[in-house]
Amino acid sequence: MRIAVLVKQVPSTDKVKMDEETGTMVRSAMDAELNPLDLYAVEEAVRAKEKTEETEITVISMGPPAAASAIKEAIAMGCDKGVLLSDKVFSGADTWATARTLSSAIEKIGPYDLIFAGERATDGETGQVGPSVAAQLDMPVLTYVSKIREVNGARIVVERAVEGGHEVVEASLPALVSVVKEINEPRIPTLKGKIRAKQTEVPVMTAQDVGLDAAHAGLLGSPTRVVKVFYPSLSRNGTIVDGRDPERAVNALVQFLKDKALV
Ligand SMILES: Cc1cc2nc3c(=O)[nH]c(=O)nc-3n(C[C@H](O)[C@H](O)[C@H](O)COP(=O)(O)OP(=O)(O)OC[C@H]3O[C@@H](n4cnc5c(N)ncnc54)[C@H](O)[C@@H]3O)c2cc1C
Repeated sequence: MRIAVLVKQVPSTDKVKMDEETGTMVRSAMDAELNPLDLYAVEEAVRAKEKTEETEITVISMGPPAAASAIKEAIAMGCDKGVLLSDKVFSGADTWATARTLSSAIEKIGPYDLIFAGERATDGETGQVGPSVAAQLDMPVLTYVSKIREVNGARIVVERAVEGGHEVVEASLPALVSVVKEINEPRIPTLKGKIRAKQTEVPVMTAQDVGLDAAHAGLLGSPTRVVKVFYPSLSRNGTIVDGRDPERAVNALVQFLKDKALV
């Protein structure tokens, strides 16, 4: 079986800063990490490999040269190899153009029986890229997958986390599966895995390599425009209740809540 895992390198969540002028994320000099929710996709791919003989896992990421380290982290966990999609023309991509770049690469280096993605990236947080890749490749997509019940050469049976429970869904392969945290506990890479990852070369593919016209990549190929980005302003016009006389303080609080029709 041939498996692909889509991983994104994201800024460490506590370091995210936005440029209010341009509406873009300030990415320079920012600590980056493998999207934490993609660890679950990587783990599930590695578990599928452990259950099925002759399985190969390729990690695919679109990003700047530094994103190779996210791919290596996945290799250290047990994936076999990786491909980095990196080109100046990819920059400024919205979710559609990102998916277009990933699906063009998959068409070039695939086919894959199974494609894993995380539920969402912790920076963009749209959850659109996985389903868009599936749509562009015209394959079934299974989202919010919390358990894989069965995979064989022709089909996959999964449990999806839905409001109030789980539903069991079956699809034919090839298919794209995006997973939720509940699915597994990602492993910590072993020293052997880390050494193997360090020694593994991650080839870089450009727009030309994946056969993608520049007009369909990056900002040029992005139908979305960020109209405005701003930090919400917090106003705190609070009323201070003097707590030295507890009875008066409680009465004042109850009156306050009554005035607001909250009790
Ligand atoms: C006009 C515009 C310009 C933008 N410019 C940039 C830019 O220059 N640089 C930038 O980083 N972002 C840019 N963005 C944000 C960009 O759209 C998203 O970061 C990106 O498309 C992924 O969407 P997301 O973060 O919501 O991922 P989600 O859809 O939430 O991710 C879901 C899953 O898809 C997979 N995935 C997502 N992204 C990738 C990827 N790159 N490679 C491999 N797998 C992936 C992962 O498995 C992930 O868990 C821009 C957005 C807009 C609207």
